[in-house]
Amino acid sequence: MTPASASPPLAVRSLALFGGTFDPVHRGHLAAARAARDRFGLDAVHFVVAGRPPHKSALPLSPYPHRCAMVALACAGQTRLSLSLAEAGPDFSGSATSYSIDLVRAHRKRLSRSAHLYFLVGADAFLEIGKWRESEALLDSCDFIVVSRPGFRLEALRAAVPARLLAAGAAARRSSARGTLRLRNSTVFVVSSVCVDVSSTDIRNRVARGLSIRSLVPRAVEDYICKQALYH
Ligand code: ATP
Ligand code: MG
Repeated sequence: MTPASASPPLAVRSLALFGGTFDPVHRGHLAAARAARDRFGLDAVHFVVAGRPPHKSALPLSPYPHRCAMVALACAGQTRLSLSLAEAGPDFSGSATSYSIDLVRAHRKRLSRSAHLYFLVGADAFLEIGKWRESEALLDSCDFIVVSRPGFRLEALRAAVPARLLAAGAAARRSSARGTLRLRNSTVFVVSSVCVDVSSTDIRNRVARGLSIRSLVPRAVEDYICKQALYH
């Protein structure tokens, strides 16, 4: 096996990259991925488990192999949803800091020119996009699918985009009214049908307090957390 930059071509016409720490993966992540897959008829949604994301560098994180194992269990049997090891790094440790812009560039090289590449994020993550590495290049480099998340106002998304990247004119204003933001080189599509009030932080806290997480994660993930004694 090889890291993404040295990986073989990807034979899909449409792919969404869904990055996260997934510590652990939960039903909100699956709902977001399925909603994007179904609305855009995606050939694949890749759950890209982050090695060490810059915004969480000071927080304790479960070992990369555990987070990957849980994503693999959650995606098993889910049509066109799969684990990606693109951020595993050359030694597969997932210990390097990783940036979304590098991920998108590496995938562009693996896709045919006509393939459609999307970046899938929750509303909370998109609101921070201005702080991401090379955020303007990232926003220029692919279309975004932003899914709703309880507690976040989708109207705020426009304010998260640097003004010079927003397309001007009546057509752009019309699409904005329809929940689509036209940028100078890309489009931000908003999917507002997802409403699953769960976070990995809640799950870690519940496990630590001995509370059930049955309704929050797939059964196989719950079993894994219990057998590996994670989050105690
Ligand atoms: P944590 O509480 O540790 O930050 P999280 O639940 O936010 O965990 P992440 O791994 O940080 O999960 O998120 C990965 C991606 O999934 C982000 O784009 C985030 O916005 C999105 N996401 C997470 N939970 C939900 C949810 N319930 N509904 C929609 N999107 C979600
Ligand atoms: Mg989060």
